Amino acid sequence: MLTGDGLLARIRPLGPLPIAKLLALCDAALECGNGVLEITQRGSLQVRGLSAISAAPFARRVFAMGFEQQTAPPILPSPLLGLDALETADLRPVLEELRMGFAGHPMLKQLDPKVSILLDGGGGLNLEGVSGDLRLRAMSDSRLQMSIAGAATAAIPLGTVAVRHALDVTMQVLSAIVQRGPQARGRDLANPEDVALLRMRLAAVLSAAPADPPRPAVEAIGTHRLQDGRLALGVALAFGFTEAATLQSFARLTAQHGADSIETAPGRALLVVGVQAAGAAELAMAAASRGFIVRPEDPRRFIIACAGAPACGSATLPTRLVASQFAHAAPALLDGSFHIHVSGCRKGCAHPGVAALTFVGADGLVIQGRAGDSTQGLVRLDQAIAGLARLDAVRRRVPWGAGSSAQMLSRLGVEGVLAALDGTQ
Ligand code: SF4
Repeated sequence: MLTGDGLLARIRPLGPLPIAKLLALCDAALECGNGVLEITQRGSLQVRGLSAISAAPFARRVFAMGFEQQTAPPILPSPLLGLDALETADLRPVLEELRMGFAGHPMLKQLDPKVSILLDGGGGLNLEGVSGDLRLRAMSDSRLQMSIAGAATAAIPLGTVAVRHALDVTMQVLSAIVQRGPQARGRDLANPEDVALLRMRLAAVLSAAPADPPRPAVEAIGTHRLQDGRLALGVALAFGFTEAATLQSFARLTAQHGADSIETAPGRALLVVGVQAAGAAELAMAAASRGFIVRPEDPRRFIIACAGAPACGSATLPTRLVASQFAHAAPALLDGSFHIHVSGCRKGCAHPGVAALTFVGADGLVIQGRAGDSTQGLVRLDQAIAGLARLDAVRRRVPWGAGSSAQMLSRLGVEGVLAALDGTQ
């Protein structure tokens, strides 16, 4: 993918990366790219700053490390698949079966590239909050619950199937999506007629028995119990990026603590796999000293920033630096009830959705909208930084400010928020 700082390579690891492999990938990112690594909201790894000359050698190195060409459609397994102590079934064989079944299948070439399959082993670290076109989740009786279109609470359940039918039913659903046209997604089947038709097609293997209820979405940040009694330690990258050299130094340290591997996970997270309970706190401190996020309530988690300047040629501001200044200016305001989006231009790459406050370019502000929407005000960045602190002060001052920050913003309305941000309130 061409970006402002050269070519970007996206890698979707299908499980934990042995530490030696991650170190080798960081070496390749340093030698062929600009050394900036990102983890996306869905847990993919991105290597930035490749050039037309270095991209092919980088690809050769990555394939030589054992990374494989990604399947179409992409499969997103739940983190710690086959390792999580709370899992109800080890779905790694299903993952492999799907991967092999998808490889080179002519029908799948007609799918929209955004179509994705989620495979959730039913463990503690689940995929309930992640959106997918088809969801397959292991239930307590080890059957698979199938549902289509969206995150767990919104997806439409189809029924349950035995694990051995996973590939067959997946292909049937994908075929139904293909029949709806080249841009079709799972949501195009999420209506009573298509759901009834799908259930009819799958009737020979589908059971309508009630499935397990949805579970609360779980944060990757923190510790998670593994089947072998050890832990996985989850940390996240602030604003989704780090330097390859920083990641290497952390990865070497985790190896000294006995960890086997590191897995990328949704929420821009890294899971260090195989940590002893006694060493987890020390490793978390080492991660924090490298700028990683180790507490779910860290205010940086509630600011989304694109690559910005200087990485992106379209950017008019250093988005990640600004995001960091915002987080420092008003940590209490960033209570997780709303998101701030800092976008270097109107394209809004980092967050296509609505955010409570979207700062666009040098001075544009969109309230309750997207980066591409018309701006409701112009606020210089230095004003905005002080303005966020003023908003926090308003929250503490007014009698109705005891609720969440999101409630306070909606009560203030567009005019009140603008006045606080530009200092006229
Ligand atoms: S939103 Fe604009 S500035 Fe930011 S990465 Fe995308 S193109 Fe670049």
